[in-house]
Amino acid sequence: MRQRPYNFSAGPAAMPEAVLQQAAAEMLDWHGSGMSVMEMSHRGKEFVSICEQAEADLRELLAVPPTFKILFMQGGGLAENAIVPMNLAARKPARLMDFIVTGAWSQKSAQEARKYGDATVAASGADTGFTTIPAPATWPLRDGLSYVHLCSNETIHGVEFHELPDLQALGCDAPLVIDFSSHVLSRPVDWSRVGLAFGGAQKNIGPAGVTLVVVREDLLGHALPVCPSAFDYRTVAEHASMYNTPPTYGIYMAGLTFQWLKAQREGALSGVAAMEARNLAKARLLYDCIDGSQLYVNRVDPACRSRMNIPFQLREERLNDAFLAQARAHGLLQLKGHKSVGGMRASLYNAMPLEGVQALVEFMRDFERHHA
Ligand SMILES: *Cc1c(COP(=O)(O)O)cnc(C)c1O
Repeated sequence: MRQRPYNFSAGPAAMPEAVLQQAAAEMLDWHGSGMSVMEMSHRGKEFVSICEQAEADLRELLAVPPTFKILFMQGGGLAENAIVPMNLAARKPARLMDFIVTGAWSQKSAQEARKYGDATVAASGADTGFTTIPAPATWPLRDGLSYVHLCSNETIHGVEFHELPDLQALGCDAPLVIDFSSHVLSRPVDWSRVGLAFGGAQKNIGPAGVTLVVVREDLLGHALPVCPSAFDYRTVAEHASMYNTPPTYGIYMAGLTFQWLKAQREGALSGVAAMEARNLAKARLLYDCIDGSQLYVNRVDPACRSRMNIPFQLREERLNDAFLAQARAHGLLQLKGHKSVGGMRASLYNAMPLEGVQALVEFMRDFERHHA
């Protein structure tokens, strides 16, 4: 079979080829059951085993402590922008929520939360065009907060927290909520600093539709009366993500990705540690190419450059269309940047092999030579 092109989409994004092949092989008959996973009752023993295995594998991969629940929900990242405040705002009667805005996604989160309480932007990178993250020590966090929200990897602006803030050390006892949609499983998570993490599956886990929520148990049980039962974290947790029909096929695909991740090795490292080493090497390769060129530029402060989503501009914008067309001809797909930022964006999620980034860098150097 001819090699598939390298797909740099920001999401829905490329999946590991081995996962797609396994899903194809099991499409008509899962493990001798005579059924496709799509055709199974979500309460039957076959699907319950798939779901339990997926949850256990995820817990192992991300070292999720037993004091956290793992929920498979629906609605994507944007729905969580409402579901989080519906569940957590009323932890305190004043419903105060502080947001750290480091790009388009955290901005959206702050806007949506205003429907459910006093959502305030405590700190923002807007004045530098979202090329920096304001230092946590300068965040004017309020007293009595229900929670603090940040987006740990901004998919559009290419800004990533390389260390999560320690709110307690900043004198804030509120839980930290992180939107980790676009770098989940690309690196370990320090759960001692997190109260709740959420993410849509379509960047680094599987097909769109599954929404992952990892929530500390003591944060359950504060939902506003207006919160739909199917979105009440406590209800979902009490029913092991089966209060209503979960996105069964998406959970199965996520489970296959988790098994693939567990089998990955980089030297002595495995699982998420191996992915982190590989992702660092991939990102370094592309940033070095951009920084060493006269044609390409990335303006994000190196201290907070994303390993997953790397936006870059061509200094001569008139070359954009030619760049994209020739990249496509070289088997390098979906490099067009987000419309709000322009230029290009390469997303280097877990499923992107080092060889894909090498091919991209080789093409970029070649393109620059021909257009110097
Ligand atoms: C893609 C993305 C979302 C949006 O997810 P939807 O599934 O489209 O609602 C939210 N947050 C981040 C950081 C994302 O990358």
